[in-house]
Amino acid sequence: MAGQMRKALTYKLVLLGDAGVGKTAIAVQFVKGQFNPFLESTIGASFMNQTVTLPDETLIKFQIWDTAGQERFHSLAPMYYRGAQAAIVVYDITNRNSFEKAKEWIKELQQQGDPNVVVAFVGNKVDMPEARKIQPSEGESYASENGLFFIETSAKTAENVSELFMKIAKQLPSIQ
Ligand code: GDP
Ligand code: MG
Repeated sequence: MAGQMRKALTYKLVLLGDAGVGKTAIAVQFVKGQFNPFLESTIGASFMNQTVTLPDETLIKFQIWDTAGQERFHSLAPMYYRGAQAAIVVYDITNRNSFEKAKEWIKELQQQGDPNVVVAFVGNKVDMPEARKIQPSEGESYASENGLFFIETSAKTAENVSELFMKIAKQLPSIQ
């Protein structure tokens, strides 16, 4: 039947990473196709939903959990991770400390999260090449050693933002 409604598979996705790396900006770029440089960094729109369509026409609905700035105190409640099938762990390619913090978030996720969680390790702000401190090879090798996939993005220019979510969608289990 033409125009048949397809049921979306829904997945919880959490954003992790140091304050200021661009977690909220990545989510807003993905969901709204916008970048607002004046977005208040502690105001996360706690939940955002966005659906992507896989090449086989399966609909994948992401229920995106963003923080409200609690990552500053490294104090996310266990319920933040609980039931998350996907996680995006972000660092800022212009900030070495944020790269070290991202590795800590990966460890915490591996301890507290679901054992089968699909994890993307993301170097954000690639629109600032002159300020780059972390080479792609460094992110790439950490990711491959830890069984994660790696991508560099810019929430500002939207570079690789939809590709990031599409890559996650393709790795999620298609049976719920
Ligand atoms: P969060 O604390 O991880 O949620 O980070 P935000 O999304 O609030 O972003 C922190 C700051 O970095 C804001 O001033 C954003 O405008 C800026 N920002 C976020 N992503 C990018 C990016 O890809 N490129 C540039 N140049 N700035 C970004
Ligand atoms: Mg934020």
